Amino acid sequence: MSNIIPEISPEKAQNFRKKMLNWYAKHRRVLPWRTLPEDDTAPDPYQVWLSEIMLQQTTVNAVIPYFVKFTEKWPSVHDLAYAENEEVMENWAGLGYYARARNLHKCAKVVSEDYNGVFPDDEPLLKTLPGIGDYTGAAIRSIAFNKPSTVVDGNVERVFSRYFALEKPLPDVKKDIKTIAATFSKNYEDQPANYAQALMDLGATICTPKSPACVLCPISQDCIGYAQGQAEKYPIKAIKKKVPKRYGYAYIITDGDYIILEKRPEKGLLGGMYGVPTTEWEDNKNTLSHSSEFKRIPDTHNQKIEHVFTHFHLTLEVYITDLTNCSQSFQGIKRIHKNDLKKFGLPTVFKKVINTIN
Ligand code: SF4
Repeated sequence: MSNIIPEISPEKAQNFRKKMLNWYAKHRRVLPWRTLPEDDTAPDPYQVWLSEIMLQQTTVNAVIPYFVKFTEKWPSVHDLAYAENEEVMENWAGLGYYARARNLHKCAKVVSEDYNGVFPDDEPLLKTLPGIGDYTGAAIRSIAFNKPSTVVDGNVERVFSRYFALEKPLPDVKKDIKTIAATFSKNYEDQPANYAQALMDLGATICTPKSPACVLCPISQDCIGYAQGQAEKYPIKAIKKKVPKRYGYAYIITDGDYIILEKRPEKGLLGGMYGVPTTEWEDNKNTLSHSSEFKRIPDTHNQKIEHVFTHFHLTLEVYITDLTNCSQSFQGIKRIHKNDLKKFGLPTVFKKVINTIN
């Protein structure tokens, strides 16, 4: 079903913004990358950028400890730029979507070297930086520099799709929401940073995916979804496609105290991260064969682990062997004591594999 994009008069847009800003003044979330109104200081663009990259497809609660760790370790974009890539990846481990960490480090280097450590406030320029797309560019411009910009994340999509009861399903409705959001944000100089964050906070705390607290909502008076008594229905979800499955073998190579970790190729999933050696991950489990690195087939461990990535579901069958069974050394190999694995930081999928022997 298609929607006609609703007409929004300047008065309606002003009224909407006023309600959002009044609500935000009282109910804003306190987050480590934000400044408080009483601080009377502008937020640090480095911290805004860092938080926005970490928040991509990740919850606020998961991000906070990583944000604190990164800003303590690397207080400025120059510090992060000069860090070893391996150290950045290790400190990112557990946050997922590792391409973000690679781009984060690349972007820090560009801002440090080409912009003398000063993030640009121009949206098209921001979007030329590694890892910064439409959403992040708009968010940095409005939140860090208090300049009008159309910031649309999942929270904002939910608010507008309910407010206007948009019947078009995701993802097609996204374009309409962007047009609507732009009408409410473009050319309004009044507190662009607060307005953008007000919409995000409303979506995160009141207009929640399940059981929205409409009675507490500052814009409930004009919300069509609420008036219809079916706010939760929006945004309309697309019919889910079946998630493909992949299979592989994972190898715990150990002498009891030490475990062998292998650096994954820079490009591709979990690129540049350390993990236990595995075979390729294939669509058909019947065509799997053991790595040719081994002189004899490693011992079965009768353990499997499951891990869900964004685009596929992975099953790894776990095998155990010792280093003398390996015919050649692995590239970028590391021999880590079992007690040091925690400090080392590994992607969750490999932690699951290693946990099968604990
Ligand atoms: S009234 Fe309810 S559904 Fe509408 S925007 Fe507010 S919280 Fe969301």
